[in-house]
Amino acid sequence: MIPAVMPTYVRADLAFERGEGAYLFTADGTRYLDFCAGIAVDCLGHAHPHLVEALGAQAKKLWHTSNIFRIPDQERLAERLVANTFADTAFFCNSGAEAVECGIKTARAYFDAAGEPDRYRIICAENGFHGRTLATIAAGGQEKLLKGFAPAVEGFDHVGFGNLNETRAKISDKTAAILIEPVQGEGGILPAQEDYLNGLRKIADEYGLLLFFDEVQCGMGRTGKLFAYEWSGVAPDIMAVAKGIGGGFPVGACLATERAAKGMVVGAHGSTYGGNPLAMAVANAVLDVMLAPGFMEGVQKMGALLVDKLQGVVAKHPKTLKGVRGRGLMVGLMCQDDPKTLVQKLRDNKMLSVGAGNNVVRLLPPLIIDESHISEAVAIIDATCTELEGKA
Ligand SMILES: *Cc1c(COP(=O)(O)O)cnc(C)c1O
Repeated sequence: MIPAVMPTYVRADLAFERGEGAYLFTADGTRYLDFCAGIAVDCLGHAHPHLVEALGAQAKKLWHTSNIFRIPDQERLAERLVANTFADTAFFCNSGAEAVECGIKTARAYFDAAGEPDRYRIICAENGFHGRTLATIAAGGQEKLLKGFAPAVEGFDHVGFGNLNETRAKISDKTAAILIEPVQGEGGILPAQEDYLNGLRKIADEYGLLLFFDEVQCGMGRTGKLFAYEWSGVAPDIMAVAKGIGGGFPVGACLATERAAKGMVVGAHGSTYGGNPLAMAVANAVLDVMLAPGFMEGVQKMGALLVDKLQGVVAKHPKTLKGVRGRGLMVGLMCQDDPKTLVQKLRDNKMLSVGAGNNVVRLLPPLIIDESHISEAVAIIDATCTELEGKA
């Protein structure tokens, strides 16, 4: 018999009752160190006092109106994102896939408005992930996500991540945009090199294409900058944001320059829930914390410390581990084989992580961790590897 909850997930038989900072607690009080953070969503940890206060205060005032009315906190969040990024404008939605969808529509609408409706194709990177809607699985291009849902949405071409020659070769008179993740997340924590991003910007400018970054996972402070593209100095024309922006409340955003958004006119797009007062109160509170002086420096410092200590663990456990890579607190522990066993054993040892492609265990702790959490995580990983090797 089919379970009441449609059985589409591989779930651990484990549930949590409450969270506090970097820890989660089961109903019987067992404590877990959370280096999964809801897959890069709980960027400020669990029950952050500033977010709890913002949500509670807003809950007592007003939850939802509609985008047929002005929403002052939505205007405020948009202005703050504009002030702190390349973008001139923002559309709010509720998830990463919706943010990417909005970006795809923005790119198509741009060329339609320019009188070139046949320019709709988007060049994407292999091994990418952009969500689970029909268009975003086509953009991701992964066979395992597309299987069973044919026909695939038309208009996406794929080239090797990091490969500028293949990108150039794929451009046709139908190409509208290039879409990549500045750090591939699901693919296994693969940061794009600076010359790759520079090259993409040059190609986009040369052919009049729009450059579209998916920062759903690597954005919102994860890499130690508000957005990962800032490390390279290469700004996109369109950017999808979600996960961390709501700190656990479902929020997504599609950011764009004025030029790129020229097709997104009245009536072009909409969302019932997108940017509602409750969501905006929380997202503004997330920004309050992230934009405070010293926050990003803290993330950078903790990221460097984590990677440094993990390098020692990798050196000690060559049978299990191959290396460590990433940026800021978006860290990938490269394993010798399928990372499932390590993720599971870490969980048995009361630490949460999440698997990714290319045999990687992702460590995505809340951005508020301190040295004690890093020491604790490193000790658990070290002990878990020892255990695994003892059994081999
Ligand atoms: C998680 C993710 C998405 C999809 O976000 P949802 O909120 O699950 O729709 C898209 N792109 C990237 C890079 C992601 O990590």
